[in-house]
Amino acid sequence: MTRKLHPQTLAVRAGKEQTAYNEHHQALFLSSSFMFDSAADGAALFAQQKEGFTYSRTANPTVAAFQKRMAVLDGAEAGIATATGMAAVQAAILTFLSAGDHLIASRSLFGTTMGFLTGHVSRFGIEITLVSQTDLAEWQAAVRPNTKMFFLETPSNPLNEVADLAALAEMAHACGALLAVDNSFCSSALQQPLAFGVDLAIQSATKAVDGQGRVLGGIVCGRADLVKQMAMYVNAAGLALSPFNAWVLLGGSETLLLRLERQCQNAQRLAEWLRAQPQVKAVYYSGLPDHPQAALAAKQQQAGGIVVAFEVRGGQQAAWQVIDRVEIFSKTANLGDVRSTITHPWTTTHGKMTPEAKEAAGIRDGLLRLAVGLEYADDLIADLQQALASLAAE
Ligand SMILES: *Cc1c(COP(=O)(O)O)cnc(C)c1O
Repeated sequence: MTRKLHPQTLAVRAGKEQTAYNEHHQALFLSSSFMFDSAADGAALFAQQKEGFTYSRTANPTVAAFQKRMAVLDGAEAGIATATGMAAVQAAILTFLSAGDHLIASRSLFGTTMGFLTGHVSRFGIEITLVSQTDLAEWQAAVRPNTKMFFLETPSNPLNEVADLAALAEMAHACGALLAVDNSFCSSALQQPLAFGVDLAIQSATKAVDGQGRVLGGIVCGRADLVKQMAMYVNAAGLALSPFNAWVLLGGSETLLLRLERQCQNAQRLAEWLRAQPQVKAVYYSGLPDHPQAALAAKQQQAGGIVVAFEVRGGQQAAWQVIDRVEIFSKTANLGDVRSTITHPWTTTHGKMTPEAKEAAGIRDGLLRLAVGLEYADDLIADLQQALASLAAE
C-alpha cells in the first residue's frame, strides 16, 4: 500500500504477524521458546545473522505485532514493549543513563515515577534535578555538561499542566540530551510526541491502550537505533511484556482512537458543566479556553484528554463526601478505562508527599480527579450533580 492510511485504519490493520493457517485475528503465540530447523539455524539466529524468534524474553511474534502497531500509531520507526508502564519508564531511563550522568525531570510526575527517580535511579550515581513543568527558564538553568536526558509527562497528573514539547526538544538536543515523554494520559490517540521532536515516547498501555482495566503493559517508541538499545536492556533486565498481555492490548489498540474520541467529548462536557457549579472552586482541564496553556494544548493534543481535576469548596471533608456519594464513578485510581473513576489525590496518589509539597505542587485537599469513561455524559453529570448537591453551597 503506497497511499497514506488514516490512523484508525492503521489501528485495526497495522502490524499483524500472519501464520500459514490464515487466521483472521492476530494469533496468540503463548510459547516461551521457539525451535531451530537445525544446529546451524540455531547458531545463525543467536548470532543475529538470521531474523526470527528464539525465546520470548527476547522477542515473540504477538509482542512484535503489538510493538509494530504502536510504533505506527506514534509515527515512530520502532517500539519496544514492556511488562508494565513502570518497566517502560525504567527502560527509557536506565538504557541511556550511567553513573555520573545528570537527568532533568519535571516536578509534576506520576507518584511511582517520582519514587523511582528519587529512591532508586539516584542510588546508581545518576544526579537528578527537578524543575517546573511549564517554566522553560528553569529547565535551561538546570542544564549541566553531564545532562543526558530531560524527562516529563504532559499533560500532568492531576492538574493537566501542559509542557512545551518542541521548545524542550530543542533545548535538550542543544545540550546533547534525549527528551523522554510519558504520554500515558493522552496515548497515541491524542498526542504523538515524536512529531514535536521528542526522542522517546513512553506509555503505560495499562491505561488507555487496554482501556478496559484488564492487563498491565508498557511501550516506548522512537528511532530504530534507540529502540534497539532499549530492546537489549529489556532483554537483559527481564522486562518483557507477556504475549498474552500483548494480545489483549492489540485488541484494545483497535478501538483506542474511537474510545478516546468519545471519552474526550464526555470529559469536555463534564469540565464545562463543573465550572458552572457553585460548589466548585476551580476546574483543571486542558480543553477549557481559559486553561493557562490552552493554545499549547491545542497545538500538541487532538483534544483536552480524559482526565478532569476540580476543587470543591470545603476541603477534604467535602471531597470525600462527593466520592462517597457518587453512584456511577468507580472509587479506584486507574485511568483510561471505559468506566469512569474518581479519586482524591491528596490522600491517595499524592498521599506520601508532605502537605507543604502538595500545596507547592498545586494539589489541595479539596481536589478531586476524574478519569472519564464511556458512560453516557448526561448520566455522569447527573451523578456528580446529586453528589455535589449534598454539599452546602457557599
Ligand atoms: C499508570 C502510569 C504509569 C505506570 O504504569 P503501570 O502500567 O501502572 O506500571 C506511568 N506513568 C503514568 C503517567 C501513569 O499514569
